[in-house]
Amino acid sequence: MTRPGEFELIERFTRPFTPGEGVEVGIGDDAAVLRPPAGHDLLATVDALVEGVHFTRSFTPEEIGWKSLAVNISDLAAMGARPLWALVALATPPSARPGWLARIGRGIASCAERHGVSVVGGNVTAASELSIAVTLLGAVRRGRALLRTGGQPGDLLLVSGTLGDAALGIRPGAPASLRARQRRPVPRLELGWAAAGIASAAIDLSDGLLQDLGHLCEASGTGAHVDAGCLPLSAAYRAQTQGRRDPLAEALSGGEDYELLLSVAPSRLARLRAAARRVGTPLTVVGVLVPPPGIRLLRDGRLLRPRRTGHDHLRSARILGRRGGRA
Ligand SMILES: [Mg+2]
Repeated sequence: MTRPGEFELIERFTRPFTPGEGVEVGIGDDAAVLRPPAGHDLLATVDALVEGVHFTRSFTPEEIGWKSLAVNISDLAAMGARPLWALVALATPPSARPGWLARIGRGIASCAERHGVSVVGGNVTAASELSIAVTLLGAVRRGRALLRTGGQPGDLLLVSGTLGDAALGIRPGAPASLRARQRRPVPRLELGWAAAGIASAAIDLSDGLLQDLGHLCEASGTGAHVDAGCLPLSAAYRAQTQGRRDPLAEALSGGEDYELLLSVAPSRLARLRAAARRVGTPLTVVGVLVPPPGIRLLRDGRLLRPRRTGHDHLRSARILGRRGGRA
């Protein structure tokens, strides 16, 4: 049922969205009519951001909007695909001000515009907590999607950018560069396109290197060796973790970096590096796929045992909760 004012709310929320490629009918009818590019496979993914779990009101509404779409674009980047169309389901406490929700819409719109995405539909409903579920559709040339399943023992493991910054960016007093990694992640879309047809497998790093590597290994039927001495760390990360007993904890197990983890046959490594250079994305070799089972973390040839293996969204929420403000 539509509450009084809901039409206005929907109108304000959807105002920043403009139709784009392949959109025959966008917002305004009962359903969008979309035309996928010829010779392509259609890809679909969905991810929800929930207040208190993935963000608090200490995020600006623009940051909440940006992130809700960016995390979905990252999933399509990991498939080597091009994002095209998004559907946004917003659940909001009745107390939320329309102007504040409109700013979430603007955050989504700016992320959409930057990455060539059209928002083609949406829904606004009342709920006790704010959440945004974004469904993203994309396309990749037929049969060319980059999957988690293609890794082979002997393939090298590479990650883009730097690791652990987003997890450190949650902490009170974190420097601006780390806060931005947490609040305004930039998906590695161009790298995903460049790696399709070269890399053997890929996954985006939403839950931490070790956990997401575990997913890739499981899908590929391999194990892995990771060299803890090779992990790419930002200067800000090094400064924040200097002198800590476990300085690699966030790099190994912190979530939400939205970098790509790729595997590649050694014979194709030079091609992959050249492709990454062309799109201006740093790539670092961090390990190798081996026969199953298990993931071993090594340093100077010695086995390390990490204390945590994956990102825990609820633990993040507790950290977030201590600094949550109100809009
Ligand atoms: Mg993913």
